[in-house]
Amino acid sequence: MAPETRTVSLVASTVECDGIATFSFTRPDGYRFAAGQYQNLTLETREGPQTKSFSHCDAPGDEHSRVLTRLTGSAFKDALLALRPGDAVQTSGPFGRLTVPEGARKAAFLVGGVGLSPAASIVRDAVLRRSGLECLVFNGNNDETCVPLREDFAGYAAEPTVGVVDVIWKPSESWKGESGVITADVVRRHCDPNDGWHWFVSGPPAMVTPMRAVLQELGVSATAASFEEFGGYR
Ligand SMILES: Cc1cc2nc3c(=O)[nH]c(=O)nc-3n(C[C@H](O)[C@H](O)[C@H](O)COP(=O)(O)OP(=O)(O)OC[C@H]3O[C@@H](n4cnc5c(N)ncnc54)[C@H](O)[C@@H]3O)c2cc1C
Repeated sequence: MAPETRTVSLVASTVECDGIATFSFTRPDGYRFAAGQYQNLTLETREGPQTKSFSHCDAPGDEHSRVLTRLTGSAFKDALLALRPGDAVQTSGPFGRLTVPEGARKAAFLVGGVGLSPAASIVRDAVLRRSGLECLVFNGNNDETCVPLREDFAGYAAEPTVGVVDVIWKPSESWKGESGVITADVVRRHCDPNDGWHWFVSGPPAMVTPMRAVLQELGVSATAASFEEFGGYR
């Protein structure tokens, strides 16, 4: 049975940095999802109604749904940005299988940019529920001045069960963390990749394809990894 379409309204929008923004929406009664899943949003745009998929970056226990996206100047993104609190949006879902497998105790993520969303949902859910899931997030971004959801992740990283490794493509001279892109060597410096981790990769195809290769190089088996491509991004 197809998930029902519901009307929700914008609660707040925040442009974080470098054309990256978050949007939060009311949660309809009876909407249930698992951390890591996505929803479809339908908006009236200058090109007519359009529907696009967005991963939750909120946890099931949150009051509101939240999505993280890149403002590209497309008709859809401009319509999203033009929404004011209280404006109505159609949503359907949840969809997707990028969720923590039954029995998994350790979750590691190779993500970056807006591909961080499912990791944010899964880590947040583990922290809020104190589920004991150990989480390690490799988060790749262009420069350290624009790391989406930075404050949220600073809070999660204060938990003993959560580790965050920022990997900055073009860091400033004062940057002391990992630089360049996420590689097998970067991963090995922070964990034994085959020590019980379930690996998650999500984001635009340009991110998912090289991260598949990293996991292959690390010898991670197909059953220990889950992937989700944000189709629609080049
Ligand atoms: C399962 C799933 C989950 C997803 N989750 C997310 C998510 O959490 N967050 C998210 O942002 N997206 C997510 N997506 C992708 C999303 O549905 C859109 O396809 C995506 O955001 C691009 O939409 P758009 O309107 O910006 O680009 P479109 O107008 O559809 O354009 C397609 C391409 O052109 C580029 N483009 C368009 N206009 C411009 C411009 N003016 N300047 C530069 N580039 C431009 C876009 O970046 C994109 O690469 C997900 C997709 C799937 C399938």
